[in-house]
Formats: sequence, structure tokens, C-alpha cells
Amino acid sequence: MLTLTAALVLSLTPMAATGYQLPVANNGVQGAFWVNPPLKGHFSCPMDPDVRSDAPGSCPKCNMDLEIAPTQVRLSLGAGLAGKTVKIAVAGHPSFSHVAKFDAHGNAEASFPLPPGMYTFTADLKGAHLVAAYKLR
Ligand SMILES: [Zn+2]
Repeated sequence: MLTLTAALVLSLTPMAATGYQLPVANNGVQGAFWVNPPLKGHFSCPMDPDVRSDAPGSCPKCNMDLEIAPTQVRLSLGAGLAGKTVKIAVAGHPSFSHVAKFDAHGNAEASFPLPPGMYTFTADLKGAHLVAAYKLR
């Protein structure tokens, strides 16, 4: 049920405050990671975003190789952090880390091409180590 609701909202407003909420708290800092996995199919065409597939292959429209669709990860810690930066990372995957800047609402975003699997998202901020685990289906 949660999957369906999130997917429907996501299809209307891809960057809105939707997704799966993973609360985090450490050393006086608290908030949440929000994870927006690809709508359907983990593979998409770089030129034709409407082309989705559950398996790798080539695009039926332009014949390019399909790529793993991005999963959006947003760290939301509330106002007061605007302009500050934070490194959002996927534990155990050195190439999946991104330094993001907080917007006026205290949100910092990154996106990673993650195939289905179990992932741990991390961020270090103001002496707090924030960690959340998520199973990407
Ligand atoms: Zn294509």
C-alpha cells in the first residue's frame, strides 16, 4: 500500500516531498532521509525517460543501452542549515557519495544509480553520524 501511494504521488511531482521516510537522530541532530526509488523498472534510457525496464538491454526507440535509473535520496533536517553542505553517501559503495547543499527548508539531495538491494545511507554533520538502512526493491 505504501509503495502504491508513493508511486502515484511521485508520478505527479517527481521532486516533491514524497518517498520513504527513514528517521535519523544522533548527537542532538534529528531529521530523516527520504528515498525516492525509480517509479517502475530499474533501467531507463538516457534519451527517453519514459522507457523503463526491469532488465538491462537496449531502448526500443533509439537503441541506446539502458542505464540504471537514479534513486533520489534527500536528507531533511529542517530550517537553519541553508547553504551548509553535507556529504550524503551509500555505505560500502565509495563511488556513491555526493556533497549536497541544504536549501532554505533544510533539505539536501543526491541521486544514485542503485540496482535493487539493501543500502545504508549516511551523512555526517555537526558531530552527528546519521545512518539509515533501506531495501530497494
Ligand atoms: Zn531511447
